[in-house]
Amino acid sequence: MIVTALAALQLSAATPLVVRDARRVVRVPTTAAAGGPMVRLESLQPMLPVAVSHDSAAWYTVEIWGTRMQLQTGVASVRVGDELRSLSGAPRLDHGHLVVPVQLISEVFPDAVPNVRWDDVTRQLVVFSVDAATRANLRTDAALSAPVRRPVRASTSTDATELPPPPRAPRGRRTIIVDAGHGGVDNGMSGPIGGGPRIYEKDITLAVAMKLGERLRARGVDVVYTRTTDTLIALDDRGHIANRAGGDLFISVHVNAASPTWQDPAGARGFETYFLSEAKTEDARRVEQMENAAARFEDSPNVGRDDPLGFILSDMQQNEHLRESNELATLVQQRLRSIEPGPSRGVKQAGFRVLVTAYMPAVLVEIGFGTNAREARYLSDPTSQDAIASAIAGAAMDYLSAYERRVSGSRAGFGSER
Ligand SMILES: [Zn+2]
Repeated sequence: MIVTALAALQLSAATPLVVRDARRVVRVPTTAAAGGPMVRLESLQPMLPVAVSHDSAAWYTVEIWGTRMQLQTGVASVRVGDELRSLSGAPRLDHGHLVVPVQLISEVFPDAVPNVRWDDVTRQLVVFSVDAATRANLRTDAALSAPVRRPVRASTSTDATELPPPPRAPRGRRTIIVDAGHGGVDNGMSGPIGGGPRIYEKDITLAVAMKLGERLRARGVDVVYTRTTDTLIALDDRGHIANRAGGDLFISVHVNAASPTWQDPAGARGFETYFLSEAKTEDARRVEQMENAAARFEDSPNVGRDDPLGFILSDMQQNEHLRESNELATLVQQRLRSIEPGPSRGVKQAGFRVLVTAYMPAVLVEIGFGTNAREARYLSDPTSQDAIASAIAGAAMDYLSAYERRVSGSRAGFGSER
């Protein structure tokens, strides 16, 4: 967690509280108070299933997705499970509505409430994708459940059996976002080193992405492409497209380039799949810098500013999607291994901007090295592109069926499958 008491105090009183999910952004009005801005708790209801009940005298219980918090008007603390946490101000009543410090939402919610995180950079409460049907079910479940205290997710624990985020309800159809890397003025990498027919990453990624989409559609999956032509799409917009479409998975296709500082750059070969996290190795940092550099072609005002990516990332470690993304990445590598002539370079982690904005399991596949003459030839051959697309589509289908099994398994009892 990266939030601090200071951060909450820095919010200007007039600043509305911003709550965002995959589809909407809601600005909730706040009022100034000595201990920092206050907000009417029920105004979060369009985005979160907040239920406030008046227990007795000054005591109130707030329930969100099974998490219960007890508040007392006039007292600057909140009880979450067995833990008592201090608040920057005391909750109070305003025309019969409970008004609480914004700090409750920025600091306590991320530790206690499933499916939310506080983005300290943009000062927003981010609510992860839970579709309307699931929300409705969860609300009903919470209302019907006996008044027993459910376990509270501790901020330090990642034990999935404790209180897993609510699973999305299985649906008839799934949506996969297929993202062809680069495009337009951004060629991506070009190769190979030492000459031969010139290849541009943006052309290969588009060809493979289109084939991947066709194969997924043939298997009954809805596909949304971030681009279908040679055009530049800002890195952040790719994630926004994915969120608007309510995607279940995000797959970004790229071609790798060897570092000129390597001993034998022309000889580097192989495929690797990344999921979003902080770069763990020097090599992962190289690929991260290379792919994030595409932002220099964008002229959106947001892109110019330096995102403290590490900030967002350290917070996103809490994100349920990391585990899912890791699993998808593993399946992609397994499938590619069975068809690609080059070596598997494994599943890796790095902070790709294109993955940061997609609130769903997301991977970035480097399908080979365009700097290597043999792989450049392989990657530009339509037959190989077919095979690569089939392999990635197969991995996505494997992932989805494993996911469906897990979700239905989790209904019977959490943790029974893993
Ligand atoms: Zn790329």
